[in-house]
Amino acid sequence: MTERCDIAIAGGGPVGAALAIAFSAAGWAVCLVERRAEPGAGADPRPIALSHGSRLVLERLGAWADLAQATPIERVHVSQCGGYGRVDIAPEDAGVPALGYVTDYDALRAALEARLAASPVKVLWGAGVTGATADADAVRIETDGAGALEARLLAMADGAAHAAGGLPQREHDYGQCAVTAIIDAPGAMRGHAWERFTSGGPIALLPFRDRLALVWTLPAAAAAGMAELGDADFLARLQQSFGHMAGEFRAATPRRVYPLKLRYLTRVVAPREVAVGNAAQTLHPVAGQGFNLGLRDAWELARAAGEPPGDPGAADRLAAYAAARRVDRWGTMGFTHLLIEAFGSALPLAAGVRGAGLALLAGMPFAKKFVARRMIFGARG
Ligand SMILES: Cc1cc2nc3c(=O)[nH]c(=O)nc-3n(C[C@H](O)[C@H](O)[C@H](O)COP(=O)(O)OP(=O)(O)OC[C@H]3O[C@@H](n4cnc5c(N)ncnc54)[C@H](O)[C@@H]3O)c2cc1C
Repeated sequence: MTERCDIAIAGGGPVGAALAIAFSAAGWAVCLVERRAEPGAGADPRPIALSHGSRLVLERLGAWADLAQATPIERVHVSQCGGYGRVDIAPEDAGVPALGYVTDYDALRAALEARLAASPVKVLWGAGVTGATADADAVRIETDGAGALEARLLAMADGAAHAAGGLPQREHDYGQCAVTAIIDAPGAMRGHAWERFTSGGPIALLPFRDRLALVWTLPAAAAAGMAELGDADFLARLQQSFGHMAGEFRAATPRRVYPLKLRYLTRVVAPREVAVGNAAQTLHPVAGQGFNLGLRDAWELARAAGEPPGDPGAADRLAAYAAARRVDRWGTMGFTHLLIEAFGSALPLAAGVRGAGLALLAGMPFAKKFVARRMIFGARG
């Protein structure tokens, strides 16, 4: 039997779940297909810095109350190891109450899954979308576990492994991995975040409750070795690479390793299909923008689809969506990629140019505000 709905969504990660809640609130009948067997399955403790803009969207979706424990970021310090130049960014620089809020992937997904469970969205757990065929009026979707579906629009939010649909994509392998852990650093200033560019790769330390969440980018081979070190050796290497700006590192939770690639679709819409979140673009986590950008995709797509009655998959609505997202998408991808390219170079001259860039930013409040607001609100900041 074929299940019929207005909108089908492939993938119930944080972007797919947010999209389902937004579509459902607009009055559409939504079916969400998620490969995990049940809510909460597939634990992933990666730290997620939510921008103030994301907080505003999550409030509107009713998911913020469950995330109220997220730790506000009150200051961000950006510096490079072995070179001059440093920028400190405060909420006043961007005209917002906090620069962001740190939570983790599990907590974010749990907050959204709780809203999903309270909504009329039909969630098909333990099934994956395997293919789709569109005609003038509808898209027919095949799954491996939930039979066939028919909808007016298929939104693909199936993450970096995005497979269904034939949209053209490109990939750049950074040859790097992110090593994550939660670090005890009793001397660190509460609410402060650090982004330190080192010759091995950027080290981000984010305030996470009364500890620090680490995202350490390293060449892939070095990352594997680092993650296998015992706690004392790991902390010593981290302290040596980062320095003492956040005090002394005392303890670390088990390390997780994430391979890093830039992967993006050159076109995000096809007849009755659209890709959002990591399915549309998977970024390096250096600037903490992947989910924030994906949530803006979801919010804008729900706006572009309008309300029933009508056709949420109409070609003009999808084209309007793609046009509305162009600047934010390419701008955020470009900025993130540039950070890695510019700060990843070990050439002595590059350190000078980077230092000059940081010093210039520090001395020009309007430039600092421009960068900070774009990282918080996207292209419309
Ligand atoms: C170390 C690290 C730190 C990060 N830090 C930040 C940060 O600070 N701020 C930030 O904004 N972003 C951050 N990100 C990026 C962020 O994690 C992603 O952008 C975000 O998870 C994307 O959400 P998504 O729902 O699009 O995809 P995913 O989270 O990948 O979810 C995809 C979902 O689709 C399901 N699925 C897959 N295939 C299918 C299928 N065929 N059918 C049905 N379901 C399917 C999967 O089971 C999964 O649940 C970080 C990433 C990493 C690796």
